[in-house]
Amino acid sequence: MDRWIARRHGADALGDGSPESGEVRVMARTGAYLYAAGATLALLWLALPHPAASQDLVLVGVLALAYAGAALLWYVGHRLRRGWFDLVVAAGTLMISVAVHFSGHTTPFVLFFLWSNVYAWYFLPRGRAALQLALIGVAYGVVLAVGDHVTPPEGNRGGLIPFLGPGAARWLITIGTLLVAGMLVTALHERVERLIRRLTEERNFVSSVVETASALVMVFGLDGRLLAFNPACETTTGYGAEEIHESHISEFLLPPEEIERARREWEHVLTGGRASFESHLVTRDGDRRLIAWSVVLGRDAVGDPDHVVATGTDITERKRGERELGRRAQRQAAVAELGRKGLEGLPLPQLTAQSAALVAKHLDLDHCQVWEQTPYNGDLLLTAAVGFGAGEVGRLTIAAEEDTQPGFTINAEGPVVVDDFAEERRFSPPVPLIDSGVVSGLSVAIPGRRRPFGAIGGQTTSRRSFTHDEALFLQSVAHVLAAAIERWRSEEAIRHNALHDPLTSLPNRALFLDRLAHVLTKRDPKASQAAVMFLDVDNFKLINDSLGHEAGDRLLKAIGPRLGEALRPTDSVARFGGDEFVVLCEEVGDGRDALIVAERLQKALSAPFVLDGEEHFLTASIGVALATGRYEDPDPLMRDADAAMYRAKERGRAQCELFDDAMRSQVRGRLRMENAMRGVIDRNELRTYYQPIVSLADGSITGLEALMRWHHEGLGPVSPIEFIPIAEDTGLIVPLGAWILEDACKQIVLWEQELGVVPPPISVNLSPRQVAHAELVPMVADVLERTGVRADRLALEITESVLISEAESPWNTLQALKKLGVTLMLDDFGTGYSSLSYLKRFPVDVLKIDRTFVDGLGSEAEDSAIVKAVVGMAKALDLGVVAEGVETEQQLQCLRELGCERGQGFLFGRPRPAADTTPLLGPGDAWMPQLPGRSAQV
Ligand code: C2E
Ligand code: CA
Ligand code: CA
Repeated sequence: MDRWIARRHGADALGDGSPESGEVRVMARTGAYLYAAGATLALLWLALPHPAASQDLVLVGVLALAYAGAALLWYVGHRLRRGWFDLVVAAGTLMISVAVHFSGHTTPFVLFFLWSNVYAWYFLPRGRAALQLALIGVAYGVVLAVGDHVTPPEGNRGGLIPFLGPGAARWLITIGTLLVAGMLVTALHERVERLIRRLTEERNFVSSVVETASALVMVFGLDGRLLAFNPACETTTGYGAEEIHESHISEFLLPPEEIERARREWEHVLTGGRASFESHLVTRDGDRRLIAWSVVLGRDAVGDPDHVVATGTDITERKRGERELGRRAQRQAAVAELGRKGLEGLPLPQLTAQSAALVAKHLDLDHCQVWEQTPYNGDLLLTAAVGFGAGEVGRLTIAAEEDTQPGFTINAEGPVVVDDFAEERRFSPPVPLIDSGVVSGLSVAIPGRRRPFGAIGGQTTSRRSFTHDEALFLQSVAHVLAAAIERWRSEEAIRHNALHDPLTSLPNRALFLDRLAHVLTKRDPKASQAAVMFLDVDNFKLINDSLGHEAGDRLLKAIGPRLGEALRPTDSVARFGGDEFVVLCEEVGDGRDALIVAERLQKALSAPFVLDGEEHFLTASIGVALATGRYEDPDPLMRDADAAMYRAKERGRAQCELFDDAMRSQVRGRLRMENAMRGVIDRNELRTYYQPIVSLADGSITGLEALMRWHHEGLGPVSPIEFIPIAEDTGLIVPLGAWILEDACKQIVLWEQELGVVPPPISVNLSPRQVAHAELVPMVADVLERTGVRADRLALEITESVLISEAESPWNTLQALKKLGVTLMLDDFGTGYSSLSYLKRFPVDVLKIDRTFVDGLGSEAEDSAIVKAVVGMAKALDLGVVAEGVETEQQLQCLRELGCERGQGFLFGRPRPAADTTPLLGPGDAWMPQLPGRSAQV
C-alpha cells in the first residue's frame, strides 16, 4: 500500500530499484557477515586453549583473508554479478578446508561448512548449490585423507565397507547432513519467495487500482497527517502528493467552517471504525468541491489501529445538476401555478405583482420590474416592481424608445442580457438604478398579438451570467402575463362596451340607471337632492336627413364634451340612444337650482358646432326631475324627467321644464288610462266609426276612414288623441290595429251583403309601431283572406314619420303591402319633414293634406300657398289628394279652386257608427251632400 508513496519519494532502499540488484546486495551483505563471523570465531578459537598441533600462523593468514573478503563483500559486493557468488562460496569452502586441516585436531571449523552450504542453497540455484556441496565434500575428503586428526589413537575397526579409511563415515554423515540442511533451506526459501511474490502481486494490484481510480484516496496517520494521496486527489485538488505529504488535512484542504465537523467525524472513525459524510475540499485555485467521503480505520498486522483511509467521490457536479434540476422543476411548477391563477381570473394587477415577486425569487434577482404598454399612447407604465421602483408602481411611465431597457426589450428579437450595466451601450439604463449598484440584468418582452404588451426584467447587484434556462423561465412568465393581459383587456373592452355607448363612449342607459339607483339608495334626505335631466336635441332628424348620418354622428360625439364642461365633476352624462342624453346632478338645492343647471347646459350647446368648416346650431329640450323622497327606484324618476322633457318640447325649441305636481297628476291620469286600456278588446269596449271621404266635384262618397272609439266604464268615452299615443307607447296599438282592420273588413262584407252593392274603399290608420312590427304584412294578408275582402277595397293610412325612419324595413313593408294590392295613403301630410325624394321612393298612392293647412284656407295666404304647392306636386307625381278637416264652405271653395279633388271633414259628415253610415251608402239614394256650386263643377 505504501509503494506508491515510496516511489513517489524516491526512497527505494534497493538502489536502482530492480529486485535483482536488491537480491545481490543481500547476498553480498550476508556473505560479508558469514566471512567476518567465521574469521572472528576462528580468532576466538586461536585465543582460547587449542590443540598443540595447530599451526596458528597459517590459521592467522586464512583468518586475515576471511576478514579481507568480508570487507570486500561489504563495500563492493553489491556490484558483483550473481555468478561471482559461486566463487565467494567456493573460496569460503577452501578457506574452511585449509582451517580444518591446519587446526591440528578435529575442530568445530567443520561447522563452517554448514554455513557456506546453507548460504549456497539459499542464494544459488539448486544445481549450483549441489555443485558447491560437492566441492565441500571433495575438500573435506581431501582434508581427511591428508591428515586424519579425528581417528582415536586406539585405531579403527574395519567396518563393512573399507572405504576411504577411518574418516569416511564422518565425511559421509557430514555431507549427508549438509545436503539435508541445504534441501530444507531451499524449500524454505522457495516458500518464502512464493509468499513474497503473492504479497507483491496483491500489493501491485491494490496500488494500480488506487492509482488509476477516479475516486479520491487519502491515507492519514492516526494524528491526522496525510500519508498518501492518489492521482485523483492531485487532479481534484491541484496539489501534488509531495507538497502536501505529512501535512495536516485541516491546514489547507478543509474550509475553515467545516473543520469542526470534520474533527467530529474523525473521532467517530477512531471510535467506531468507519464513517460516511459529505464535506468540501478547497482546491489550490480556491474552488470548492463537494466530496462524499467513506472513511475507515486501518489496522496493522496485529489488529491495532494504524492509519485512516478516506475514499471520496467528487459530487460537486452531480449536486449542482441535482440542484439545477430541482430549481428547474420548481420554476416550472411556479409558472404552471401562475398560469392557473391567470386562468382562474386573478385580477391582472395582482397577477402582475405576483409575477414580479416570483421572478425575483426564482432568478435570485435584487430588482424586478414589469412594464406594460398603455394602449392609448404606447408609453410603458410600471405595473409591478420588486426592489427598484416598488414605490412608483402604477405611476411611473417612460417612453417606449429604444434607448430605455424596457423599450429596447420590446423591440428586441429575444431575451436581452446585460453582463455589466457599466459597459452597456445599446441603451442607457436609468441613473438611479445604476446608483443602486446593479451589475447584470435580464429582460424579455411580454409578447402580444400585434405588438408586445410590455416587458419584464430584473437586475442583480452582483455580476451574473444568466443561463439559457433562466431566460426561458422568464419568457414563460412573460407568456402567462401576455395571456392574462390579453384576456384582461378584452374583458375590459366587453365591460366597457356593455356599459358605454359605442358612438360617444359615454355611459349607457344600464350604467346610468345603476349609478342612479346607487345615488337613490345612498341619499341622505336632509342633504341636497339629486336631479335627473332628460335632454333631447331639437329636430335632430332634420340634421340627419340634410347632412347625412355620418355628420349627425359627429355632432352627437361633440355634444358629450360640451355637456361635461358645463357640469361639476360629480355629475355624469349618459347617452340613451339617438339624440337623447341624460344628466345626473348629484347635488342640487331645489328645483330652481336644477333649472339653472339645465339652462347652463342649454348655453353650452348654443355655441355653434363646426362641421367641415360649416357652423351648425343646436338646441335641446330639457326635462328635469328632482329625486325627492318619494322616489325609491330610478324608473319613476326617469319617466318623470322624460315627461317633463316632452312638456318642454311641446313648448317649442330650447325649453327647460321641471317636473311638477300638475305634470304628476297628468302622468298619474295617463297611468290610470294605461291600466284601463289593458283588456279593452276582451271587454268589447271598442267601436269603429266611419267618416266619409268625398269627391269635391260632386260630393259622392269615394271612401270611408275607419276611426277607433273607446268607451270605458269609468272613464267614459276617451278620445283617440289621448289613448292612441298611449297604445303606441305600450305596444297595445298592435292588437288594437289588428282589431280595427278586421272589424272594418267584416263591415265591408256586411255592407256588401246588406246593400247589394260594393261599398266605397275603407281606409284604416296604421301607427308607426305597427309598420315596424314584423307580423304586419302577414296579418293584413290573413285578414283579407279570412274576410274575403278584395285588396283594392282597402286603403292603409301611414304617417310621414314612418317614411323617415332610418331603418330599411319600412320600405320593404310598404312594398309588400303594395304587392298585396292595397292602396297606401300618406296621412297628415305637411306636418313632418317629408321631402319629394321620400315620396318618390315610397309606393304611396294618395296624400292627405293635414287639417292645419286646410284650417287657414281663405284667411292665411301662406296656407293657400302650401296647399297649392302640395296639390301641384301630387299631380306631378301622379298621386291622389285628400284635404282633411274641411269644415267650411269657404274652405271647400278654396280647395276646389286649388284643384284638390277630394275632401274629408265635418262639412261632409262626422265620424259615425257603421249603422248610421249604412244609409249613406244605399244604391238608390246615395248620400250626396248639397254642395255649393256643385253643378258648376260637374
Ligand atoms: P287622423 O288619422 O288624422 O283622423 C282624422 C281625425 O280628424 C279624426 O279624429 C276625425 O274625427 C277628425 N276630423 C275629421 N274631420 C274633421 C273636421 O272637419 N274638423 C276637425 N276638427 N276634426 C276633424 P279622431 O277620430 O279623434 O282621431 C284622431 C286621431 O287618432 C286620428 O287622426 C288618428 O291619427 C288616430 N286614430 C284614430 N283611430 C285610429 C286607429 O284606428 N288607428 C290608429 N293608428 N290611429 C287612429
Ligand atoms: Ca287618418
Ligand atoms: Ca289625418
